[in-house]
Amino acid sequence: MGTEHDGSIIVAGTGPTGLIAAAALADLGMPVTLVGPPASTDDRRTTALMTPALAQLDALGVPAGLRPKTAPLKAMRIVDATKRLIRGPVVTFRAAEIGEDHFGLNMPNRDLNAALEAAVISRPAIDWRRGMITGWVVGADKVVARLSDATTIEGALAVAADGRLSPARQAAGISTSVRSYPQAAVVLNFGHSRGHGFVSTEFHTETGPFTQVPLPGNRSSLVWVVKPTTAEELMALDDASLSVRVEEQMQSMLGRVEVEPGRQVYPLGAVLPARFAQNRVALVGEAAHVFPPIGAQGLNLGIRDVRDLVATVAENRSDPGAEHALAAYDRKRRPDVLARAGAVNLLNLSLLSDMLPAQLARSAGLGVVGGFAPIRALFMREGLQPGSGFAKAFTDLREQIRR
Ligand SMILES: Cc1cc2nc3c(=O)[nH]c(=O)nc-3n(C[C@H](O)[C@H](O)[C@H](O)COP(=O)(O)OP(=O)(O)OC[C@H]3O[C@@H](n4cnc5c(N)ncnc54)[C@H](O)[C@@H]3O)c2cc1C
Repeated sequence: MGTEHDGSIIVAGTGPTGLIAAAALADLGMPVTLVGPPASTDDRRTTALMTPALAQLDALGVPAGLRPKTAPLKAMRIVDATKRLIRGPVVTFRAAEIGEDHFGLNMPNRDLNAALEAAVISRPAIDWRRGMITGWVVGADKVVARLSDATTIEGALAVAADGRLSPARQAAGISTSVRSYPQAAVVLNFGHSRGHGFVSTEFHTETGPFTQVPLPGNRSSLVWVVKPTTAEELMALDDASLSVRVEEQMQSMLGRVEVEPGRQVYPLGAVLPARFAQNRVALVGEAAHVFPPIGAQGLNLGIRDVRDLVATVAENRSDPGAEHALAAYDRKRRPDVLARAGAVNLLNLSLLSDMLPAQLARSAGLGVVGGFAPIRALFMREGLQPGSGFAKAFTDLREQIRR
C-alpha cells in the first residue's frame, strides 16, 4: 500500500500537554490539527514547574504574562510526620546549594491553561477543532479520527494527549497496567498569617503526603492525600472548620490559616502503558503516565515527553508516524518515565506500608539524603533534569581523583 497521508499531525486532547504539544509541533512547521474542548477554567490545582520545563515553555513564548501569578520555589522540605516507630529526619533541599536561585515556579492551573490556550490561538497554523474525537481508525499508512461534529480528519501521526483513559491509546492497541490506590487528594488554596519564605513543605503521613506549595503573597496551595473516606469528611466541612484542620496538620507552621472557597478531590491511581508509541500513535502526558502527586513530577514529565516527541518528529518530517520514528520515541521516553513512575510509586507505597523494612528503608533513605550534601545535590539536579545529577556527580568525582 502506498503512503496516503500528507505528513500532518493530529493532537488529541486540550489539557496542558496537548496544548504544549500542538504549539511546539506547529513551531517545527508541521501541519497540526488539535482536537479537544476549550482549555479548562475550573481546575483549582496549582502546578510546580521546574526550570527545564519553564525553559521549554519560554521557547513557546508562554510564561512572560504568567510571572505575576507565580511564586518561586527556593527550598523544598520533607517532614516525616508519621507516628511510626522509625521516622526519618527533616530533609531540606535548597536551590542555593546547587547554585540556583529557585527550582521552579508554582502557578495556578487556570492561569497556566489560559496562557497555553493563548499560545495555541496565536499560531494560525494550528487548526483547532473544539469538539471531541468519537472514533479512531488506525491504519498502516495513516490514522483517521471521527469528530463529534461528524467530520473526519486524518494524519500521519496522532499524538495522544487525551488523558489517563486515552481513547487514542486504546485504538492503537497499547495495553496498560492500572493500579488504584486507597487514597484521594484534597486540593485547595489558603491564606496564612506568616510568610512562607518560598519554601514548600511536604509532610509525609501514613495516608500519603500533605504538601504545601507557595503562591504569591501570604498564600499557598495544598495537596492533602488521605483515605477516600477522610476526603469525603474534609469536603463536607465548612471553610472555617477546614482551616483549623489544615493549620493543625501543619503544626501552625505558617500561623493562622484561612482556606479559600472552592476545593476539589482527585482519586489517586497509577497507569503505565506497555509502549509509549505504536501504530501511528505516540503517547504524551497522562496518556503515557499517571502516578500520585508526590514531588511535582507529572506535568514536568509530560513536558519532557513533548520535548522528545518534537525531536523525533524533526528527524522524521516526511513521515512522523513511521514505525522507526515511533520506536525511537519509545526508546527515548522509556528510561525517564519508568524511573520517575517507579520512584514515586515506591515512595507512596512505603508511606502506606506498615511493614518495618519499608519504614526502615524510607527513613534510612531520608537520613542519607539529609545528612550528606553531595547526595542531596545529586537528588536536586536529578529532580530538575534527569541525568544531570549523575553527570555532575561523575564530573566532581573525576575532579577529585585528578587532584
Ligand atoms: C492533585 C494533583 C496535583 C498535581 N500537581 C502537579 C505539580 O505540581 N507539578 C506537576 O508537574 N504535575 C502535577 N500534577 C500532574 C499534572 O496535573 C498532570 O500531569 C497533568 O494535568 C496532565 O495533563 P494532560 O494534558 O496530560 O491530561 P489532562 O489534563 O487529563 O487532559 C486530557 C485532555 O484530553 C481531552 N480528551 C479526552 N478524551 C478526548 C477525546 N475523545 N477527544 C478529544 N479530547 C479528549 C480532555 O478533555 C482533556 O482536555 C498533579 C496532579 C494532581 C492530581
